[in-house]
Amino acid sequence: MKRKWYDYLWIAELLYWVLGVCNILFAWLGMVFFCIPLLMAIVGGNKTYCNRFCGRGQLLGLLGSKFSRNAPPPRFLRSRWFRGGFLAFFMVMFGLMLRSTYMVFSGAPLRQSVTLLWTFKLPWQWAEVGMVAPWVAQFAFGFFGVMMTSTVLGLLTMVLFRPRSWCVYCPMGTMTQGICKLKQGKEDVQ
Ligand code: SF4
Repeated sequence: MKRKWYDYLWIAELLYWVLGVCNILFAWLGMVFFCIPLLMAIVGGNKTYCNRFCGRGQLLGLLGSKFSRNAPPPRFLRSRWFRGGFLAFFMVMFGLMLRSTYMVFSGAPLRQSVTLLWTFKLPWQWAEVGMVAPWVAQFAFGFFGVMMTSTVLGLLTMVLFRPRSWCVYCPMGTMTQGICKLKQGKEDVQ
């Protein structure tokens, strides 16, 4: 089957990591990966982003073809309570990251580290961020940590289970699915 341009979006995902490591401010580009799926779900009421345009999903599929055990993921990962709970947890952590950004905006000192798995603070002193306001840099550090954490979880579950097992409990997938369900429900009522 002839490949389309969007079959190569995994390259954009890789590029994001390279750019982010070179300069943490590129972490802001990750907002594109946040906003586009939500917009597509809100406007289109479907999961086209997941099915076609998600570079992370593609990358997990590609890497998984080599490194995955291909075991079925445990049933609890698919359960509504786990997916909802994980989304809630993720959003709370995202909110705390926004709070840190606000605190720096209000005068607190910038913390030049990336937090992995909500626990491990990776020093990131080489980052050159003097050209922007400290809160802009703080958001970049925080957001890169969010992206890195979800990628590490995605890779772990890729190795342990099926390549795209992350998609089973990905907070973005859960959110877009919820939006699509809401939209479909509304359209049924109309
Ligand atoms: S569930 Fe998440 S990682 Fe998987 S395709 Fe959708 S947005 Fe991408």
